[in-house]
Order: sequence, then C-alpha cells, then structure tokens
Amino acid sequence: MMDKRRIAIDGPSGAGKSTIAKGLAAALKIDYIDTGAMYRAVGYKMIREKIGLEDREALKAMLADTKIDFSAGNILLDGEVINDRIRTPEISKMASDCSALPEVREKLVLLQREMGQAKSVVMDGRDIGTNVLTDAEYKFFLTASLEERARRRWLELQEKGTPQALADVEADMAARDYNDSHRPLNPLRKAEDAIEVDSTDMNAEEVMAYIMNLMK
Ligand code: C5P
Repeated sequence: MMDKRRIAIDGPSGAGKSTIAKGLAAALKIDYIDTGAMYRAVGYKMIREKIGLEDREALKAMLADTKIDFSAGNILLDGEVINDRIRTPEISKMASDCSALPEVREKLVLLQREMGQAKSVVMDGRDIGTNVLTDAEYKFFLTASLEERARRRWLELQEKGTPQALADVEADMAARDYNDSHRPLNPLRKAEDAIEVDSTDMNAEEVMAYIMNLMK
C-alpha cells in the first residue's frame, strides 16, 4: 500500500494551477479535486435560483440541499454535469463573491477535508495549504505576473470561441485577486511551509517537471 500523499496547490487565477494539478494527478494516478469548481457550482446555483448575496436564509436552505461531486473528470451539481457552464466571466465573479460568505466556505471546506482524508489527492484552490489540508505532505504556491496570467486567460477564452478584450480580462482578474486576498475568511496567501513557484517564464511542461523534481 502506497503512502497517502496529499498535494496542495494554491495561487491566484491564471497561474496554471489546474493544468499542473491535473498533470500531477495523472502522473501519480491519484484524484484531482478542483475546489474552485466547487465555489463556481455554488455561484451557478445561486444565479439559477435567483438567490442574492444578502439572502442568507435562502442561501443556507439551498446549501443544505446541495450535492457536489467529482466523477471521471466531471463536476456534478445535484447529479447534473455542469463542467462548461461554470466557466463564464459571470460565474467567475459570482464564485469569488460567494466564496467570502461563511456559510459557503464552511460547507465546502468540510466537503474538501472529507475528500482529502481518505486518499491521496491533488487539490488546488486558494486556501488548501493554509486551511483545508494544513497537514498536506506537499504544498506549492503557484504564481505568475498579472500580465501573463491575463494573457493566458485571454487566449483560453479565444480558443473557446468566447473572446474578450485583453484589458477587460486583466481588469476582471485584478479585481478577483483583490477580492480573494482581502476577504477576512481564509484569504489567498502562501502557507509558510509552501514552496513558491513563479510560472511567468515557464510553460506547463517546465512547471510540471520542476515540481515533480522538487517532490523527489
Ligand atoms: O480557481 P477558480 O478561478 O475556479 O476559483 C473561482 C473562485 O472561487 C476564486 O476566485 C475564489 O474566490 C474562490 N475560491 C476560494 N477558495 C478556494 C478555491 C476557489 O475562495 N479554495
């Protein structure tokens, strides 16, 4: 039986966390948990059910009646695959806004800890090393310049056929960075024992190789 290995990857949007986390999970044959997708799922459901950020009673009732799972690379909200529907600028904004609410964080952090308890996982997000899996065997903090992160997201949006002006992408990203690192509850920050990796001048393969090497 292989030892349990939990790998925490935190950092701002567009730093390449999900690409690297997916790659590591495949290479090590362990599960990948995309915690950002969980906040997106909650944001998506709030919009669909017209629950506002101030509507805390409705939010609590909704959360008590919400199931989020990962299966075969899909994210399921109440049994329904929602992969692409949560990757829009509107949902990005709502995910960031709802992630500051204690009710939302409490529920999702609990779920994430359960997912990381039983088995080896790669988990990416904003507070994995500082809060969700503080005792993870490996912690990385992946960053890149705002300019480079915005350029990557801009390319991604273009490839998806939903282009946006680079300046808008960069402004959205800067706003989300600010939100995520200034909220009182589990803000984005590097854990003291995390290794910082700056991917500004590295492509995905280079970052993967660098991290795999550090893990050895
Ligand atoms: O990583 P992704 O961009 O999909 O995350 C969407 C939003 O969810 C982030 O902007 C952040 O506000 C929130 N989030 C969080 N804690 C995490 C992961 C994501 O607050 N562990």
